[in-house]
Amino acid sequence: MLPLILLLCLEIVLRIVLEVRERRLTQLRGGVFAVLRVIPLVNDIVPLPENRKEAPESKFVKLHEEGHKVLHHSILRNLMKVAFWMVAVWFMAAMMVRWNASFIEAVLWLHLAAIPFRMLFHFYCWSQEYECDRYALEKTDKKVAKAALRELAACEIPYTALFALVYREHPTAMLRSEKILKKKMVTTALR
Ligand SMILES: [Zn+2]
Repeated sequence: MLPLILLLCLEIVLRIVLEVRERRLTQLRGGVFAVLRVIPLVNDIVPLPENRKEAPESKFVKLHEEGHKVLHHSILRNLMKVAFWMVAVWFMAAMMVRWNASFIEAVLWLHLAAIPFRMLFHFYCWSQEYECDRYALEKTDKKVAKAALRELAACEIPYTALFALVYREHPTAMLRSEKILKKKMVTTALR
């Protein structure tokens, strides 16, 4: 029980550090969601708003979405989720049967064990997003891509790369721009 409590305290501290870093770098207030994100288990379900306004449907965005369909991305993502839940059930059973953990303890251990896997999953989702950006770039050109990503960046709530990796299935428009155009976007928004 003690290691579990220590790890949960460590999680809270690390998440507070991440929030403080985020507030400092983005100069945006976190609001009530920032407080909820610090609480173990609650942070698994608290929503993360992504946009401040609806992004326009540009030609680039349409081709990007076409890329997801052509490359069967949603099936692959769902297969990974199913695999994760199967491992999670096995993990819970093992905790409770072999290690005599209570249900709550098992849930908390699962919550902790899932953190790195969630980041890996996000990393995988990001690679899909980059793949679709390349798909859309091949069918348009750099000028179209640059303009579209600039528009998306303007609609998006700015997050740092580290924060996005912990919480988001989408890389920021800034990261996408850097990835496919191989250069940094010149805006006042953060990296
Ligand atoms: Zn996408």
